[in-house]
Amino acid sequence: MTETKPRVKLTSVLDKMNNSEHEQVVFCQDKHTGLKAIIAIHSTVLGPSMGGTRMWNYNSDEEALEDALRLSRGMTFKSALAGLNIGGGKAVIIGDARSQKNEYLMRRFGKFINSLNGKYYTAEDMNITMRDIEYMSMETPFVVGKPQYMGGSGDPSPMTAYGVYVGMKAGAKKAYGSDCLEGKNILVQGVGQVGKYLVDYLIKENANVFIADIFHDKIKVVTEKHPMVSVVNPNTIFQMEMDIYSPCAMGATLNDETIPELKCAVVAGGANNQLAQEIKHGTMLKNHGIIYAPDFLTNSGGISNVYHEYLGNHNEAYVKASISRIYNTCLDVLNYAENNEISSHEAALEFAMQRLDKVGKVKLGE
Ligand code: NAD
Repeated sequence: MTETKPRVKLTSVLDKMNNSEHEQVVFCQDKHTGLKAIIAIHSTVLGPSMGGTRMWNYNSDEEALEDALRLSRGMTFKSALAGLNIGGGKAVIIGDARSQKNEYLMRRFGKFINSLNGKYYTAEDMNITMRDIEYMSMETPFVVGKPQYMGGSGDPSPMTAYGVYVGMKAGAKKAYGSDCLEGKNILVQGVGQVGKYLVDYLIKENANVFIADIFHDKIKVVTEKHPMVSVVNPNTIFQMEMDIYSPCAMGATLNDETIPELKCAVVAGGANNQLAQEIKHGTMLKNHGIIYAPDFLTNSGGISNVYHEYLGNHNEAYVKASISRIYNTCLDVLNYAENNEISSHEAALEFAMQRLDKVGKVKLGE
């Protein structure tokens, strides 16, 4: 018997779009390549929508749609808060990347992106490689994060890590009155692309770095480079006393179970969607007296990097300087949150929405 995955009803799509204020959702299907994909455009108020494509074997079409809607909305606020003139978009390809991804599928998807005429720019996300970026680029110019040999800006992770580092320093400044990380016990959960580059910055500043990962090869890359780093069991990290917790793996690690257990003064990391429920868990952190550097602010270095590639003025020193602004923005957000007795997540959302509203009006001449 063939398994049928739950389908999405049109009325429910329109309701969801209405609730999250999405501009457009595009469903893509191609019989020859087996492509099934969703492109979600949340907002083009500040400029064309931009955000990566991910490929995932979702349990249902509904789950894929939820992911595309949630991630594209997040991109709108991330770019708005980072001061970029782009909107939020994201795409998901439904399927198993190991068995279903090939040149034809990626090129066919590139054609769908092209049909949007620049309203959506894609980049890399989970299970999309530089090779896939090349395939999509064969069919459309609306791709960023291209490899350097294609004139692109390459892997954005080092820039993301740099943004997390400066966001963490701002969090430390708020918590301790000094942004110096020397001697601070910092746990980095997940030492993949972002985590491993973040560790470089922390070691350089003489922090006591603890790392956790579920894969030994990822741990090895870091410990070979920095033998002084301590390795901890990923299943017991919330029992640890630390100064700073840096989630750099999966989302939703800040939830009902973990927040009461957390023994740290600051949370600042690269993972997307760290709060299981944005408002509830942002408020819980505040009530526990933990300084939270909002994820969509601290991890915006990667989108800033590809944004400059899109502008055609990518220059590493310049991009890094623009990412440094995360420090001041983060302090402004944390102070605003304190003065208004709201969570830092809500404060960051307010800042992003204010920019969307005000710049949107300038653009419309209102
Ligand atoms: P990655 O896959 O390279 O690294 C993630 C690491 O986390 C892997 O080493 C993985 O083994 C580890 N991991 C997974 N589950 C774990 C667990 N339970 N405990 C400990 N470690 C675990 O991904 P990445 O590119 O480094 O991205 C990390 C996070 O940052 C993701 O949430 C991603 O969405 C977000 N992010 C990345 C970028 C970027 O530029 N790469 C930009 C913005 C946001």
